[in-house]
Amino acid sequence: MPRSIVSADPKAAYLAAKDAIDAAIRRVLDSGRYILGPEVEAFEREFAAYLGTAGRDAGAREETRGIVVGVANGTDALELALRALGLGPGDRVATVANSVSATAAAIVATGATPVFVEIDDATLLMDPGALEAAFVSSPGIKAVVPVHLYGQPCDLPSIVAIARRHGAVVVEDCAQAHGAACGGRLVGTWGDLAAFSFYPTKNLGALGDGGAVAGSNRPALEQVARLRQYGWRTRYVSEGPGRNSRLDELQAAILRAQLPGLDAANAHRARLAGLYSQLLAPASTRALLRLPTVAPGRTAVWHQYVVRSPRRDELRAHLESQGIHCGVLYPVPLHRQPGFAGLHASEAGLPRTEQACAEVLSLPLHPGITEADVRRVAESVLQKVEASG
Ligand SMILES: *Cc1c(COP(=O)(O)O)cnc(C)c1O
Repeated sequence: MPRSIVSADPKAAYLAAKDAIDAAIRRVLDSGRYILGPEVEAFEREFAAYLGTAGRDAGAREETRGIVVGVANGTDALELALRALGLGPGDRVATVANSVSATAAAIVATGATPVFVEIDDATLLMDPGALEAAFVSSPGIKAVVPVHLYGQPCDLPSIVAIARRHGAVVVEDCAQAHGAACGGRLVGTWGDLAAFSFYPTKNLGALGDGGAVAGSNRPALEQVARLRQYGWRTRYVSEGPGRNSRLDELQAAILRAQLPGLDAANAHRARLAGLYSQLLAPASTRALLRLPTVAPGRTAVWHQYVVRSPRRDELRAHLESQGIHCGVLYPVPLHRQPGFAGLHASEAGLPRTEQACAEVLSLPLHPGITEADVRRVAESVLQKVEASG
């Protein structure tokens, strides 16, 4: 039996930048500064520069240059961003139900209530038409959290315009989309604020937990910085609510070692995704397999390569029997989870979301995957689809 192909491989991401990461860790150990020191400050500056400059001309660069505040993880990034924008008890926050529990847990942690809106069937991302309808059917929506799922950017021009028209703020969930873009402008720069996760398997991952809030709303980002450390503006004096949600020096140094390689790592993912699409195209004309599509004008960073099949579980078992391990993101939509039950916006429920959750399958795509792996996986998928024919 050939070696097995795993569904995620954080160690491969470490090995790809091993020398730089090892040196960064040594530098922090020797420095004697382990919390909120020069590494966190430098990472915040460098990540802000990455978000602010990529894909833009020099004229636009200055006015849109952003600010980044490092926090403990992606869930905190979402929660603190919403709280800094004034969201709290009694408010409603529109988001989608095909995301990780963290998206809804962060909303609930502010005291607000999530309202799940339907997705677009082609992209599996928030449907702007359903968002518009939710503002009518669920009064009290004060914020929108679009999720750039699988590294695919949402329709940000439409979503931001709809939110503005209804007086709501936008907090982008960019946990799976570091470097993705809409019309040449990176995700994380469209909304009022954006939340990033640096969980080890994300496109930009730490070797532990990490997260960040990004944006250009200085007062809100200063509030995030106070919330992350006891409500302090200056040392030892709380000015308001706060807790401990700091990004530590080691993780910041590890992220700095990997940031210069992010675009190349994303390009590698895009090449492999292209190869999957090319190899699987012959089977995608059948009802048994649907391939992912990227909407025109958008750049995906392929956090996941997600196919759909009405016989997903059979396909998954077939791949498993050949030593190929696939993930399902996510099997249970948020409105079907006991913690968030019944919070969808429309009377009709969320049939497209539920169907997607029953059909999606992530083919292996991460820094440990080679072209030969992709060929082996694709061959196995084709074998199954043709046999089921
Ligand atoms: C990973 C993830 C989060 C949460 O990030 P953590 O760092 O694990 O707290 C939130 N939203 C999405 C879409 C994610 O993929």
